[in-house]
Amino acid sequence: MSENIVKEVEEIIEQKREAFFQVSDQIWETPEIRYEEKQSFQCSADFMEEQGFQVERGVANIPTAFTASFGNGGPVIAILGEYDALPGLSQKAGVTEHDPVETNGPGHGCGHNLLGVGSMSAAVAVKEYLEKNNLEGTIRYYGCPAEESGYAKTYMVKAGLFDDVAASFSWHPHYSNSLFHGPSLAVIHSTFTFKGVSSHAAASPELGRSALDAVELMNVGANFLREHMIDEARVHYAITNTGGMSPNVVQRDAEVSYFVRAPHAEQARVLFKRLVKIAEGAALMTETSMDYQIEGACSNLVQNATLDKLLHKNMKALESPHFSEEELELSRKYYQTLNEDDVAFAASLVGKEKAEELAARPLIHEVSPYREAPEYAKGAGSTDVGAVSWVTPTAQLTAATWSFGTPFHTWQVVSQGKTSYAKKGMLYAGKAIASTVIDVLQHPEVLEDAVKELRDREAGPENYVSLLPENQNLPSMLRK
Ligand SMILES: [Zn+2]
Repeated sequence: MSENIVKEVEEIIEQKREAFFQVSDQIWETPEIRYEEKQSFQCSADFMEEQGFQVERGVANIPTAFTASFGNGGPVIAILGEYDALPGLSQKAGVTEHDPVETNGPGHGCGHNLLGVGSMSAAVAVKEYLEKNNLEGTIRYYGCPAEESGYAKTYMVKAGLFDDVAASFSWHPHYSNSLFHGPSLAVIHSTFTFKGVSSHAAASPELGRSALDAVELMNVGANFLREHMIDEARVHYAITNTGGMSPNVVQRDAEVSYFVRAPHAEQARVLFKRLVKIAEGAALMTETSMDYQIEGACSNLVQNATLDKLLHKNMKALESPHFSEEELELSRKYYQTLNEDDVAFAASLVGKEKAEELAARPLIHEVSPYREAPEYAKGAGSTDVGAVSWVTPTAQLTAATWSFGTPFHTWQVVSQGKTSYAKKGMLYAGKAIASTVIDVLQHPEVLEDAVKELRDREAGPENYVSLLPENQNLPSMLRK
């Protein structure tokens, strides 16, 4: 049964490959950063409409978010896609040295042009399969903007967009074909603003109340906090307003931006409360006033082994991409641009012997073995898929789209975003997701098991508490 699904899905996606490539290239060519993805949003939403989906634009009151649904009853399965780029990463396609299209312009440094289209290809394949075989089920593609420090999915969950969803799937470009189930850290991103009184720093310093002093004292407090927090937590900050360039004016306004991360959402919430007390203390010490604004947040990713196992089975059943000598030659050139640290880091993940083999042939064909997600791992970041994974069973994969060792958020990612091998990986991800979605639609007992597992992990919709303040339904940059 499953083998037939895989074959049919492969055929459907291969038939439309040129159309998918065109959309992916188009999104690559118009890189737009978080919440400004107007063209990428429109191009994606239009494409899904042309494919026969019912498209709803501007969902969750986010202008660049949309859903595209097709179905005739049955459980609703979500497939998540993204299309935001990163600032400052502009780079020419296919050029193996740093060479921006536009100095300091944005670029697809996380491969979200591939991510969005790979997921759309999965949704399209499921739709055609359901139609062809006259089956019940509803497929819904989620056009999710602002993954990069925008946390759009947390807002989309809060708006109730996943309330009727039975399971969710997504993927991310990478250099390996693996499950992508974390661990990822919960994060709260907040801005602390201090207001004081300016004065002449020499003539009348006693009249001044320095907001910059408050920021500095807050940071000192936060640095002392490190000794009394769990090892796995992370706290980092950037001073986003120093209050001016002039030492002889007591700084009236200053602002500092903080990320608080921890393996579990509740740990992040507790730690953040302590950080707020430190900010209050800094304001008290300096006789300034303090206000803070949560910019965004996301919960940790909750693994669902039930769905992961099914996804992994389909990843193995599919033909994962083979690469031509030409493609390998190009990927070797990218590998050679990596610095020593990047090479060492990549080698630490696969072992010395494998790393040597991959240095000569840096495009990975095989599928990594199945493994459970550890509770915590060094080097984990955060993803806003975390919020989704709390309210519906969620599974994701990575597909090899880049040369071995290519680090995220680099010009090398941007440069490889239009290569033939990146596109092979993109379609492979789409096929793996589509096959798994069709599998779960035909086996409702799998969905039941997946939901039970989510509850057993103490996650699930009943236990989900958004890390966003209750009255905050839109990211601050959309409220301004
Ligand atoms: Zn990304």
